[in-house]
Amino acid sequence: MTAQQTQIEINLPNLRNNLSFLRSKLNSNTMIMAVVKAFSYGADSKIISKELELQNIDYLAVAYLDEGIELRESGIKTPILVLHPQLNDFDKIFKYELEPSIYSFRILKEFTTSIVRHSKKNYPFQIKFNTGLNRLGFTQDDINDLIFFLKKLRPNFLFSHLGASEDSQEASFTLNQIIKFNKICSDFENKIGDTFKKHILNTSGVLNYSKYQFDMVRCGIGLYGFGNESKYAEVLKPVLSLKTVISQINTIKEGESVGYNKGFVASRPTKSATLPIGHADGISRLYGKGKGKVFINGAFAKIIGNVCMDMVMVDVTDIECQEGDQVIIFDDTTFSAQEFASTIETISYEILTALSTRIKRIVIN
Ligand SMILES: *Cc1c(COP(=O)(O)O)cnc(C)c1O
Repeated sequence: MTAQQTQIEINLPNLRNNLSFLRSKLNSNTMIMAVVKAFSYGADSKIISKELELQNIDYLAVAYLDEGIELRESGIKTPILVLHPQLNDFDKIFKYELEPSIYSFRILKEFTTSIVRHSKKNYPFQIKFNTGLNRLGFTQDDINDLIFFLKKLRPNFLFSHLGASEDSQEASFTLNQIIKFNKICSDFENKIGDTFKKHILNTSGVLNYSKYQFDMVRCGIGLYGFGNESKYAEVLKPVLSLKTVISQINTIKEGESVGYNKGFVASRPTKSATLPIGHADGISRLYGKGKGKVFINGAFAKIIGNVCMDMVMVDVTDIECQEGDQVIIFDDTTFSAQEFASTIETISYEILTALSTRIKRIVIN
């Protein structure tokens, strides 16, 4: 198959498939928050969020303010949680009607003074509790002060985040986080004299602990087609495919080298193919020197030498191919992003979110 350029295909039918698979794990009234941070895990957050909005997603989540602004500016109306707001964000949070996660007293104080400054009434926000990940959030010990500082403000959700929901060996750690969350929430609710909606599960939480779905779940990687366990490859379908093209084929004599710093030295007459994708596109240098491989005309070709900024070279000595042929780096059938990532001992999340915005995105619908 011939190709023109390096491109990412965004497969919307696969996204819809994954959403309905995740929905099938939930009660009909449990809401789903789609996590679209980091460019929707390397896809394109506007395209993904628009499609999810069409599918009646209840909530979206981004990590940082600007990601939320971009969605609002593109016309997204769904509620958007900003998971990790910073002190100076609140003017814009109000302006763009984003919902902040309040995770520390420092952020809470700024939020409460901004609320007053903007004369906001009943502005939606969520409170994050730390139940063991030790990353962001209030603890049990903070509850009295928290209620004091909240005064009349009422969160519309209480939430926490699991640290090992994909790891069955850590089930007791996970269950302990859930118990802690229940305890913190009921303490908070008793002291404040009201009840609140809650959420704690991420994708692997939905797959492994769906009993604890509370009122909403937060799904990222599952929507993009990965379940953190190989058995889910049957049902979840990768949304992103990364494809490129052979730009040039070179014949390398025994003893000659390929690439910077002579990263590859031919021990036999070698045919190499140069591909227009490099570490600036998200292909880490760690994939070089024979670790990573790509798929060309039905066979795998190893990446040889060092990954360059804009190119990689692969060994096609035993593959019938020509300049202009399509190259699959990962896709939804032959070789998944998870498999590609595992060649350098990393995870799908990292390869996907590393994909540069300079790669052309093509929507398949
Ligand atoms: C990124 C993130 C998620 C999504 O997790 P997945 O494993 O991708 O489903 C959920 N909640 C929080 C707080 C996150 O930071």
